[in-house]
Amino acid sequence: MILLFEEITGKSHLFTIRDTSWFPSGNEVSLLNATARIRVSRRDSETVELKGTLEGQRLSVCDRCREQVKEAVSCEFEYLATTREEQVTELRETECSDEDTVTLYLKEPEIDVDELLREQAYLAFPLKTLCSEDCKGICAGCGVVLNSEACRCTSNKVGSTFAILQKLTND
Ligand SMILES: [Zn+2]
Ligand SMILES: [Zn+2]
Repeated sequence: MILLFEEITGKSHLFTIRDTSWFPSGNEVSLLNATARIRVSRRDSETVELKGTLEGQRLSVCDRCREQVKEAVSCEFEYLATTREEQVTELRETECSDEDTVTLYLKEPEIDVDELLREQAYLAFPLKTLCSEDCKGICAGCGVVLNSEACRCTSNKVGSTFAILQKLTND
């Protein structure tokens, strides 16, 4: 969604975005049941304020065992979007007064809301994804998921070679 400054008058507008077309699809991470609520208001002729929340569920795979993991995602954000020239003094002032507000310096009086949502979603995501803290992962030798099966490395040498081949084929 592209928001044009000229559409934003003095009083605040609330946008509710329920579709997730802004989120890149095709990789192993997806976003489900996401709702973004953004309140937009005009601060002055060159500046627009955005305050929002993003809630949803992130579906991805465990870094260790590749099982699917569903986690809640929730964040709040604040942006000031301005077409004013970026000045060092102004930037310092902004950093001191509102620590959580990010100032966007725009060339054109329009805001790419999809881009902001992507940024917020990635900031809200955990760096590591684990199905559980003590996930045992996949055995590098025999390829079994160690949470549900016992390692076969010592008991069956032939089986282990087959499992590795099978894993390579699956990848
Ligand atoms: Zn796991
Ligand atoms: Zn093993």
